[in-house]
Amino acid sequence: MEKKVKAIGLLSGGLDSVLAAALIKEQGVEVTGLLIRTGFTDHKEVSADGKRTVEDTAKALGIKFRIENIQDEYWDTLLYPKYGYGKNVNPCLDCHLHMIRVAARIMKEEGADFVFTGEVVGQRPKSQLAHQMKVALKESGIEGRLLRPLSALRLAPTIPELEGMIDRKKLKGFIGRGRTAQLNLARELGVEDLAVAAGGNCYLINREYGDRFKDLLEQYGKDNFPKSETPLLRIGRHFRISDTAKLVISRNEEEYYKLLPYRSGRYSFELVDVIGAYAIGTGKFSKEDIHLASRLLGRYSKAKSEETIKVLVSLDDSVSEIEIRPLDIQDPIIEKMRI
Ligand code: SF4
Repeated sequence: MEKKVKAIGLLSGGLDSVLAAALIKEQGVEVTGLLIRTGFTDHKEVSADGKRTVEDTAKALGIKFRIENIQDEYWDTLLYPKYGYGKNVNPCLDCHLHMIRVAARIMKEEGADFVFTGEVVGQRPKSQLAHQMKVALKESGIEGRLLRPLSALRLAPTIPELEGMIDRKKLKGFIGRGRTAQLNLARELGVEDLAVAAGGNCYLINREYGDRFKDLLEQYGKDNFPKSETPLLRIGRHFRISDTAKLVISRNEEEYYKLLPYRSGRYSFELVDVIGAYAIGTGKFSKEDIHLASRLLGRYSKAKSEETIKVLVSLDDSVSEIEIRPLDIQDPIIEKMRI
Protein backbone atom coordinates (compact mmCIF):
# COMPACT_ATOMS: atom_id res chain seq x y z
CA MET A 1 0.00 0.00 0.00
CA GLU A 2 1.32 3.45 -0.87
CA LYS A 3 2.52 5.45 2.16
CA LYS A 4 0.35 8.44 2.94
CA VAL A 5 2.15 11.79 2.74
CA LYS A 6 2.24 13.50 6.13
CA ALA A 7 2.93 17.13 6.97
CA ILE A 8 3.23 19.33 10.06
CA GLY A 9 1.74 22.81 9.61
CA LEU A 10 2.18 25.72 11.99
CA LEU A 11 -1.40 26.58 12.97
CA SER A 12 -1.72 29.84 14.88
CA GLY A 13 -5.39 30.04 13.99
CA GLY A 14 -4.83 33.19 11.89
CA LEU A 15 -6.33 33.15 8.40
CA ASP A 16 -3.06 32.46 6.57
CA SER A 17 -2.26 29.39 8.66
CA VAL A 18 -5.81 28.10 8.12
CA LEU A 19 -5.53 28.64 4.33
CA ALA A 20 -2.17 26.89 4.18
CA ALA A 21 -3.55 23.91 6.11
CA ALA A 22 -6.66 23.76 3.89
CA LEU A 23 -4.55 23.89 0.68
CA ILE A 24 -2.27 21.07 1.81
CA LYS A 25 -5.13 18.96 3.20
CA GLU A 26 -6.93 19.34 -0.14
CA GLN A 27 -4.03 17.52 -1.81
CA GLY A 28 -4.75 14.40 0.24
CA VAL A 29 -1.93 14.98 2.74
CA GLU A 30 -2.35 13.88 6.36
CA VAL A 31 -1.88 17.22 8.14
CA THR A 32 -1.12 17.88 11.81
CA GLY A 33 -1.80 21.47 12.86
CA LEU A 34 0.80 22.59 15.38
CA LEU A 35 0.08 25.43 17.81
CA ILE A 36 3.27 26.62 19.53
CA ARG A 37 3.04 28.60 22.75
CA THR A 38 6.02 30.73 23.71
CA GLY A 39 4.71 31.74 27.14
CA PHE A 40 4.17 35.30 25.91
CA THR A 41 0.61 35.00 24.73
CA ASP A 42 -2.53 34.89 26.81
CA HIS A 43 -3.64 31.65 25.15
CA LYS A 44 -6.74 33.36 23.81
CA GLU A 45 -6.56 31.81 20.39
CA VAL A 46 -10.31 31.99 20.03
CA SER A 47 -12.79 33.40 17.53
CA ALA A 48 -14.20 36.91 17.99
CA ASP A 49 -17.38 35.54 19.54
CA GLY A 50 -15.27 33.40 21.92
CA LYS A 51 -16.95 30.23 20.69
CA ARG A 52 -14.19 28.55 18.68
CA THR A 53 -10.61 27.63 19.58
CA VAL A 54 -7.75 26.71 17.27
CA GLU A 55 -8.42 23.09 18.13
CA ASP A 56 -12.01 23.51 16.90
CA THR A 57 -10.62 25.02 13.70
CA ALA A 58 -8.34 22.01 13.26
CA LYS A 59 -11.34 19.70 13.73
CA ALA A 60 -13.38 21.65 11.20
CA LEU A 61 -10.50 21.41 8.71
CA GLY A 62 -10.35 17.67 9.34
CA ILE A 63 -6.71 17.70 10.45
CA LYS A 64 -4.93 16.46 13.56
CA PHE A 65 -3.93 18.96 16.22
CA ARG A 66 -1.07 19.32 18.66
CA ILE A 67 0.07 22.02 21.12
CA GLU A 68 3.73 22.49 22.07
CA ASN A 69 4.68 24.70 25.01
CA ILE A 70 8.21 26.00 24.50
CA GLN A 71 8.27 28.51 27.37
CA ASP A 72 11.50 27.27 29.01
CA GLU A 73 13.57 26.92 25.89
CA TYR A 74 12.19 30.20 24.48
CA TRP A 75 14.16 32.40 26.89
CA ASP A 76 17.38 32.13 24.89
CA THR A 77 15.54 33.18 21.74
CA LEU A 78 13.98 36.12 23.53
CA LEU A 79 17.06 37.37 25.38
CA TYR A 80 19.72 36.66 22.75
CA PRO A 81 18.01 37.06 19.37
CA LYS A 82 20.54 36.63 16.58
CA TYR A 83 18.52 38.86 14.26
CA GLY A 84 17.49 41.41 16.89
CA TYR A 85 14.13 42.79 17.90
CA GLY A 86 11.32 44.37 15.94
CA LYS A 87 9.74 47.61 17.14
CA ASN A 88 9.40 46.35 20.70
CA VAL A 89 10.90 43.25 22.28
CA ASN A 90 9.58 40.96 19.56
CA PRO A 91 12.40 38.81 18.17
CA CYS A 92 10.15 37.78 15.28
CA LEU A 93 12.69 36.25 12.91
CA ASP A 94 14.43 34.27 15.66
CA CYS A 95 11.04 33.33 17.09
CA HIS A 96 9.88 32.09 13.73
CA LEU A 97 13.07 30.10 13.25
CA HIS A 98 12.59 28.62 16.69
CA MET A 99 9.07 27.55 15.77
CA ILE A 100 10.29 25.97 12.56
CA ARG A 101 12.95 24.04 14.50
CA VAL A 102 10.23 22.77 16.85
CA ALA A 103 8.08 21.80 13.86
CA ALA A 104 11.12 20.06 12.30
CA ARG A 105 11.63 18.03 15.50
CA ILE A 106 7.97 17.01 15.46
CA MET A 107 8.19 16.20 11.76
CA LYS A 108 10.93 13.69 12.59
CA GLU A 109 9.10 12.37 15.67
CA GLU A 110 5.93 11.76 13.71
CA GLY A 111 7.63 10.47 10.58
CA ALA A 112 6.16 13.32 8.54
CA ASP A 113 7.53 14.35 5.14
CA PHE A 114 7.61 18.13 5.41
CA VAL A 115 6.71 21.24 7.40
CA PHE A 116 4.60 24.09 6.08
CA THR A 117 3.63 27.56 7.28
CA GLY A 118 1.13 30.23 6.26
CA GLU A 119 3.83 32.80 5.56
CA VAL A 120 3.41 35.15 2.62
CA VAL A 121 6.46 36.74 0.98
CA GLY A 122 6.70 40.44 1.82
CA GLN A 123 3.80 40.42 4.23
CA ARG A 124 5.54 41.37 7.43
CA PRO A 125 8.56 43.57 7.84
CA LYS A 126 10.63 41.43 10.19
CA SER A 127 10.17 37.76 9.58
CA GLN A 128 8.70 37.44 6.16
CA LEU A 129 10.82 39.47 3.78
CA ALA A 130 11.97 37.27 0.94
CA HIS A 131 15.68 37.32 1.81
CA GLN A 132 14.97 36.65 5.48
CA MET A 133 12.80 33.75 4.47
CA LYS A 134 15.81 32.36 2.63
CA VAL A 135 17.91 32.75 5.79
CA ALA A 136 15.19 31.04 7.79
CA LEU A 137 15.19 28.19 5.28
CA LYS A 138 18.93 27.63 5.59
CA GLU A 139 18.99 27.87 9.36
CA SER A 140 15.96 25.76 10.02
CA GLY A 141 17.92 22.59 9.29
CA ILE A 142 15.10 21.34 7.07
CA GLU A 143 15.93 23.26 3.95
CA GLY A 144 14.00 21.71 1.12
CA ARG A 145 11.32 20.38 3.42
CA LEU A 146 9.83 23.71 4.45
CA LEU A 147 6.92 24.67 2.23
CA ARG A 148 5.03 27.97 2.10
CA PRO A 149 1.89 27.01 0.17
CA LEU A 150 0.59 30.60 -0.08
CA SER A 151 3.78 31.96 -1.70
CA ALA A 152 5.27 28.75 -3.11
CA LEU A 153 5.10 29.91 -6.73
CA ARG A 154 7.47 32.76 -5.87
CA LEU A 155 9.95 30.47 -4.16
CA ALA A 156 12.17 27.62 -5.31
CA PRO A 157 10.39 24.25 -5.46
CA THR A 158 10.74 22.21 -2.30
CA ILE A 159 11.33 18.45 -1.92
CA PRO A 160 7.62 17.61 -1.50
CA GLU A 161 6.94 19.44 -4.78
CA LEU A 162 9.94 17.95 -6.61
CA GLU A 163 9.14 14.43 -5.44
CA GLY A 164 5.48 14.69 -6.40
CA MET A 165 4.05 14.58 -2.89
CA ILE A 166 2.50 17.95 -3.62
CA ASP A 167 1.19 19.34 -6.89
CA ARG A 168 2.96 22.68 -7.22
CA LYS A 169 0.37 23.92 -9.73
CA LYS A 170 -2.24 23.91 -6.98
CA LEU A 171 -0.13 26.16 -4.69
CA LYS A 172 -0.27 29.97 -4.68
CA GLY A 173 2.06 32.87 -5.43
CA PHE A 174 0.74 35.50 -3.00
CA ILE A 175 2.99 38.44 -2.21
CA GLY A 176 2.74 41.55 -0.05
CA ARG A 177 0.42 42.82 2.61
CA GLY A 178 -2.87 42.89 0.70
CA ARG A 179 -5.55 40.55 1.99
CA THR A 180 -7.83 40.31 -1.04
CA ALA A 181 -6.21 37.17 -2.47
CA GLN A 182 -6.40 35.43 0.91
CA LEU A 183 -10.04 36.39 1.44
CA ASN A 184 -10.95 35.14 -2.05
CA LEU A 185 -9.13 31.87 -1.42
CA ALA A 186 -10.86 31.48 1.96
CA ARG A 187 -14.23 31.75 0.19
CA GLU A 188 -13.13 29.37 -2.54
CA LEU A 189 -12.03 26.77 0.03
CA GLY A 190 -15.06 27.40 2.26
CA VAL A 191 -12.92 28.23 5.29
CA GLU A 192 -13.75 31.93 5.65
CA ASP A 193 -15.30 31.40 9.08
CA LEU A 194 -12.59 29.18 10.51
CA ALA A 195 -9.87 31.70 11.40
CA VAL A 196 -9.58 32.69 15.04
CA ALA A 197 -7.81 35.69 16.59
CA ALA A 198 -4.17 34.81 16.93
CA GLY A 199 -1.55 37.26 15.68
CA GLY A 200 -2.33 40.14 18.02
CA ASN A 201 -1.99 37.82 20.95
CA CYS A 202 1.75 38.14 21.50
CA TYR A 203 2.71 40.53 24.33
CA LEU A 204 6.16 41.02 22.87
CA ILE A 205 4.82 43.25 20.11
CA ASN A 206 3.01 45.47 22.62
CA ARG A 207 4.79 48.80 23.17
CA GLU A 208 3.96 49.16 26.87
CA TYR A 209 4.97 45.57 27.61
CA GLY A 210 8.15 46.09 25.58
CA ASP A 211 9.10 49.24 27.52
CA ARG A 212 8.63 47.44 30.82
CA PHE A 213 10.62 44.47 29.61
CA LYS A 214 13.45 46.75 28.45
CA ASP A 215 13.44 48.46 31.82
CA LEU A 216 14.03 45.06 33.47
CA LEU A 217 16.79 44.35 30.96
CA GLU A 218 18.49 47.62 31.84
CA GLN A 219 18.25 46.91 35.55
CA TYR A 220 19.36 43.30 35.61
CA GLY A 221 21.05 42.59 32.29
CA LYS A 222 20.43 39.51 30.17
CA ASP A 223 22.36 37.01 32.25
CA ASN A 224 20.54 37.90 35.48
CA PHE A 225 17.21 38.66 33.91
CA PRO A 226 14.44 38.01 36.47
CA LYS A 227 12.23 35.69 34.41
CA SER A 228 9.69 35.27 37.20
CA GLU A 229 9.00 39.05 37.08
CA THR A 230 7.51 39.00 33.59
CA PRO A 231 3.90 38.18 34.60
CA LEU A 232 4.01 41.36 36.72
CA LEU A 233 4.71 43.43 33.60
CA ARG A 234 1.08 42.98 32.58
CA ILE A 235 -0.42 44.29 35.81
CA GLY A 236 -1.00 47.90 36.89
CA ARG A 237 0.82 51.16 36.16
CA HIS A 238 4.61 50.96 36.28
CA PHE A 239 6.96 53.74 37.37
CA ARG A 240 10.72 53.93 37.72
CA ILE A 241 11.11 55.94 40.92
CA SER A 242 14.92 55.89 40.90
CA ASP A 243 17.76 53.80 39.49
CA THR A 244 17.11 51.17 42.15
CA ALA A 245 13.39 51.52 42.89
CA LYS A 246 10.34 50.62 40.82
CA LEU A 247 6.68 51.03 41.75
CA VAL A 248 3.62 49.19 40.42
CA ILE A 249 0.24 50.77 41.24
CA SER A 250 -2.96 48.77 40.89
CA ARG A 251 -5.62 50.32 38.64
CA ASN A 252 -8.61 48.55 40.14
CA GLU A 253 -9.70 45.93 42.63
CA GLU A 254 -8.89 43.06 40.28
CA GLU A 255 -5.30 44.29 39.95
CA TYR A 256 -5.07 44.79 43.71
CA TYR A 257 -5.68 41.07 44.13
CA LYS A 258 -3.27 40.25 41.33
CA LEU A 259 -0.52 42.29 43.01
CA LEU A 260 -0.97 40.75 46.47
CA PRO A 261 0.98 37.54 45.72
CA TYR A 262 4.01 39.67 44.80
CA ARG A 263 4.16 41.35 48.24
CA SER A 264 6.69 39.12 49.88
CA GLY A 265 10.16 40.72 50.00
CA ARG A 266 8.87 43.96 48.45
CA TYR A 267 7.54 47.25 49.74
CA SER A 268 3.78 47.64 50.06
CA PHE A 269 2.15 51.06 49.93
CA GLU A 270 -1.44 51.49 51.10
CA LEU A 271 -3.45 54.58 51.93
CA VAL A 272 -4.89 54.80 55.43
CA ASP A 273 -8.71 55.22 55.39
CA VAL A 274 -8.86 55.32 51.57
CA ILE A 275 -10.02 52.17 49.85
CA GLY A 276 -8.60 50.93 46.57
CA ALA A 277 -5.13 52.49 46.39
CA TYR A 278 -2.36 49.94 46.53
CA ALA A 279 1.16 49.64 45.16
CA ILE A 280 4.17 47.40 45.49
CA GLY A 281 7.75 48.54 45.29
CA THR A 282 10.61 46.44 43.91
CA GLY A 283 14.29 47.11 44.58
CA LYS A 284 16.04 49.40 47.03
CA PHE A 285 14.03 52.40 48.21
CA SER A 286 15.76 55.37 49.86
CA LYS A 287 13.75 57.59 52.20
CA GLU A 288 13.21 59.99 49.26
CA ASP A 289 12.06 57.12 47.04
CA ILE A 290 9.50 56.06 49.68
CA HIS A 291 8.15 59.61 49.85
CA LEU A 292 7.96 59.97 46.09
CA ALA A 293 6.28 56.55 45.71
CA SER A 294 3.75 57.46 48.41
CA ARG A 295 2.98 60.81 46.76
CA LEU A 296 2.54 59.04 43.42
CA LEU A 297 0.16 56.51 44.93
CA GLY A 298 -1.79 59.43 46.42
CA ARG A 299 -2.09 60.95 42.96
CA TYR A 300 -3.76 57.77 41.67
CA SER A 301 -6.11 57.47 44.64
CA LYS A 302 -9.52 58.90 45.46
CA ALA A 303 -7.67 61.26 47.84
CA LYS A 304 -5.64 62.91 45.04
CA SER A 305 -7.11 66.35 45.80
CA GLU A 306 -6.49 66.19 49.57
CA GLU A 307 -3.92 68.44 51.17
CA THR A 308 -2.26 65.52 52.94
CA ILE A 309 -2.75 61.77 53.07
CA LYS A 310 -1.45 59.00 55.31
CA VAL A 311 0.35 56.10 53.69
CA LEU A 312 1.17 52.80 55.35
CA VAL A 313 4.51 51.55 54.08
CA SER A 314 5.53 47.99 54.89
CA LEU A 315 8.36 45.66 54.02
CA ASP A 316 7.75 42.17 55.36
CA ASP A 317 7.44 42.70 59.17
CA SER A 318 8.40 46.36 59.34
CA VAL A 319 5.55 48.87 59.03
CA SER A 320 5.61 52.65 59.15
CA GLU A 321 3.12 55.41 58.48
CA ILE A 322 3.97 58.63 56.71
CA GLU A 323 1.94 61.73 56.00
CA ILE A 324 2.55 63.42 52.66
CA ARG A 325 0.90 65.50 49.95
CA PRO A 326 -0.23 63.69 46.80
CA LEU A 327 1.63 64.67 43.63
CA ASP A 328 -0.25 67.18 41.52
CA ILE A 329 -1.94 65.31 38.65
CA GLN A 330 -0.25 67.70 36.18
CA ASP A 331 3.21 67.21 37.64
CA PRO A 332 5.48 66.39 34.67
CA ILE A 333 7.59 64.08 36.83
CA ILE A 334 4.76 61.53 36.61
CA GLU A 335 5.20 61.02 32.88
CA LYS A 336 8.98 61.00 33.25
CA MET A 337 8.75 58.14 35.72
CA ARG A 338 6.19 56.13 33.82
CA ILE A 339 7.38 52.96 32.14
S1 SF4 B 1 4.73 38.33 17.05
FE1 SF4 B 1 5.47 37.19 18.86
S2 SF4 B 1 4.90 35.06 18.45
FE2 SF4 B 1 4.79 36.14 16.49
S3 SF4 B 1 6.81 35.84 15.54
FE3 SF4 B 1 6.88 37.79 16.65
S4 SF4 B 1 7.70 37.29 18.66
FE4 SF4 B 1 7.00 35.35 17.73
